[in-house]
Amino acid sequence: MSDHPASAPHTSRGAGARPLRCAVIGAGMAGILAAIKLTEAGLTDFTVYEKADRLGGTWRENTYPGIACDVPSHLYSYSFALTPEWSHRFSAGDEIQRYLEQVAADYDVRSRIRFGDEVRSLRFEDGRWALATAAGHHDTVDVVIAATGVLHHPKLPDLDGLADFRGAAFHSARWDHEVEIDGARVGVVGTGSTAVQITGAIVDRVAHLSLFQRTAQWVVQQENPAYSDAERSEFQREPAQLAALYDELSDQFGVFARAVVDAASPEMRFIEQACRENLDTVRDPELRERLRPDYRAACKRLVVSPNFYEAIQHPNAELVTEPIERVEATGVRTRDGRLHELDVLVLATGFRVDAFLRPIRVVGRDGVTLDDVWADRPSAYLSITIPGFPNLFMLNGPNGPVGNFSLIEVAELQVGYILQLVDQLRGEACTEICATAAALDEFEAARVVAARNTIWSTGCRSWYLDDRGIPMVWPWPFERFRAEMAAPDLAAYERR
Ligand code: NAP
Repeated sequence: MSDHPASAPHTSRGAGARPLRCAVIGAGMAGILAAIKLTEAGLTDFTVYEKADRLGGTWRENTYPGIACDVPSHLYSYSFALTPEWSHRFSAGDEIQRYLEQVAADYDVRSRIRFGDEVRSLRFEDGRWALATAAGHHDTVDVVIAATGVLHHPKLPDLDGLADFRGAAFHSARWDHEVEIDGARVGVVGTGSTAVQITGAIVDRVAHLSLFQRTAQWVVQQENPAYSDAERSEFQREPAQLAALYDELSDQFGVFARAVVDAASPEMRFIEQACRENLDTVRDPELRERLRPDYRAACKRLVVSPNFYEAIQHPNAELVTEPIERVEATGVRTRDGRLHELDVLVLATGFRVDAFLRPIRVVGRDGVTLDDVWADRPSAYLSITIPGFPNLFMLNGPNGPVGNFSLIEVAELQVGYILQLVDQLRGEACTEICATAAALDEFEAARVVAARNTIWSTGCRSWYLDDRGIPMVWPWPFERFRAEMAAPDLAAYERR
């Protein structure tokens, strides 16, 4: 693995700094990152709490056929641990899992993880966080970094009769590898990124695939070439090439990020054109029209695939657009009265995206609970800090940049910012720091206004939208996020 110049340490380690004990919650991509950066900053007194028995987060949990990351692997990498080893432009989930395990081993993170013990509660008492786990373990820490993930809690569909199904039924994030799908009649509910990847991976293995589409998706075509041994050797010999590739990909995603936050931009028209041209490759005009969305491309999270339209035209595949009426013992009945007989039913129905660090019970200053503060919806200043909850920081928290980006790049910028806040605590400028309510209100008001100009507000149903129909994401260009993360504006902070 090689170092990228962007990976400079973020905080001072001056002698005389106040010793701080920290807890990181979650040993996925962001938790591993936090552990590495805390150590580099000289904050070595910490534990990473992980409820599962393996690290890896989303890449541990999602093992469905076809799982890959549709952000190029050379960007979906830690900037300080670039690797020449990626097999493909978009590598598979198990390869990403191995990469995370390797980075955790290289940086000695594993020994810092307390596996199989779920954090149940956090209570701010006497200026510190009292942490309690399911196993009855207690810890008292100065700083908590919640790296609990966004797309984590499976959302099961409310389908009548689901419990009556006699075949195997499971959510895509709980894939049951004991269940035979070769030669089986498989139903997949959903047409998001997950369902599209599953469809491409299994269509030629099953006897029949019924893809239940409630809403058509725009799909952008992306080939997924393998890197040759010669290319990998070249990356090995010339690590500077890896760093240059990372920067180039990051810039390309920056262009995409600028496009989606300005629905009227020419770049957005270009993306829409690419999606239309991809759809035009569908040979049967009737199928093509059933696959055509009635909203703008990238309004829902843009689906990226090398093969979806080919897969859905495979003789084994059937696109079902008739709404699901109910599930029965032997299959799915659609509203036209037809029974689609199935052996396996895969629910690729997405995630509950408003939980963040909940269901952990979090009690902040003066006994105020996070459930109360977030009763309407989650919010956080710059997606990181919540008024009244000092020294608690989130990675990939509410309203941050999500979607078609590298969440690793996002988390790295956030960690750098958080460590500068922690420096305030170390330097004895204060013992408690969190955003002021006024800063959060102002941020939220500006965010809601900016969100109106984004592609996500142009008229579709998606997991980006909150209960008011406002996108729960960063509505400005990525450059602005980068600039905000460079250094905290301490005027937005209450320090005690
Ligand atoms: P999703 O995008 O939320 O899609 C869920 C699908 O299930 C939608 O098609 C939805 O239909 C359908 N659905 C939900 N409830 C239904 C019901 N009761 N009846 C019929 N259909 C129902 O979920 P996802 O595909 O798991 O993806 C979630 C996110 O994970 C992605 O947007 C992406 O951010 C991430 N992801 C990333 C990658 C990657 O390669 N980087 C891969 C997979 C996932 P409607 O559209 O009508 O609501």
